[in-house]
Amino acid sequence: MLHVNENYSKIRASYLFTEIAHRVAAHQEANPSAKVIRLGIGDVTEPLAPAVVAAMHRAVDDESARETFHGYGPEQGYAFLREKAAKFDFQDRGVDVAADEIFVSDGAKCDCGNIQELFAGDVTIAVGDPVYPVYVDTNVMAGRTGANDGGRYAGLRYLTCDASNGFVPSPEAADGCDIVYLCYPNNPTGAVATKEQLQAWVDWANASKALILFDAAYEAFIRTPGIPHSIYECKGARSCAIEFRSYSKTAGFTGVRCGYTVVPKGLVAYAADGTPVELRPMWTRRQTTKFNGASYLTQRGAEAIYTPEGAAQAKATIDFYLENGRLMKEALSRMGYSVTGGGDSPYLWVDVKGDSWAFFDRLLKEANVVTTPGAGFGRAGEGYIRISSFNSRENVLEAIERIGRVL
Ligand code: PLP
Repeated sequence: MLHVNENYSKIRASYLFTEIAHRVAAHQEANPSAKVIRLGIGDVTEPLAPAVVAAMHRAVDDESARETFHGYGPEQGYAFLREKAAKFDFQDRGVDVAADEIFVSDGAKCDCGNIQELFAGDVTIAVGDPVYPVYVDTNVMAGRTGANDGGRYAGLRYLTCDASNGFVPSPEAADGCDIVYLCYPNNPTGAVATKEQLQAWVDWANASKALILFDAAYEAFIRTPGIPHSIYECKGARSCAIEFRSYSKTAGFTGVRCGYTVVPKGLVAYAADGTPVELRPMWTRRQTTKFNGASYLTQRGAEAIYTPEGAAQAKATIDFYLENGRLMKEALSRMGYSVTGGGDSPYLWVDVKGDSWAFFDRLLKEANVVTTPGAGFGRAGEGYIRISSFNSRENVLEAIERIGRVL
């Protein structure tokens, strides 16, 4: 008899966005003329930068002639992209990352989900709460947890992120864990971590032979000087951290699909007998076996954001989203709500002083505005809603006005 991987049955139906869609559809059906504004889902709304579009058009032309045609590319990514990412994202900022430590992919979600394959089944994992669900569910599928009890899986360590710790847990909470997922700027809370906070995590990881999986998908939103864009800005991080980057929010690639992962040379985990095993060759093997590279067109498009005009255009789009966030944060603060994020992140995490689904329903029914209830991101998300800055200015201003009327 063919048996399924029963770990899948442990996964609590990820009902968050389905439930939101269901409630929005019901509301829309009951109120066909209502103009619903969606500030829920974290997808970008603005088009690709013209420099990216032009580069992708040129890449299509390359594919149309025998002399410039590209078939299968290197699984780790083309050198033209890896070299520019290493230079502009790291070296020019004084951070030590080389092109051959960069592995281009079709986005950070896959890499965040796939990386756990490199580690033993019995490693202990720590995640923030609230959390981007990919870190959790991929480890559940791999059998590293027990059942879900009241929203938390047995065997996982949850690091509560709330107002008491500024939404950044301290490393002692992960004592005894082998791997910790950190994401700053954070989805969903929009919080950022200071250099000192990240340095404390790096020191902890090196001292306890643990690994930090650092998700920097939103680093391009950081505007406050001194907030690290990369974990490798911290001393000693090369020996204890892997970093995920994404062009999705940096350059509007949510539909195009491109990102990369940094696995430094010399970064090790250990065999059962204690022998150090380098992770970079393992990740190379994993990618060359199971992945055939991001498309040539995509990588040429990503390369264009490292040109002066591409960089300026991508930054202007992010500035636009940040201004949306600033306007919403200012308005909500004026209404007496405590808001995290919105300054160095596309997300606002609003303390609604009560049940997050009830607040969601109120904004939907009375203001025709869709948000995301914090409870969907974990137990510690209850009492908050997430608002996304990805929208047109017109919609943002209208949403502010409507929310103001309701609250
Ligand atoms: N990491 C975080 C924290 C995210 O919020 C997202 C997307 O929402 C991703 C990774 C996925 O990015 P990508 O589109 O590159 O797969």
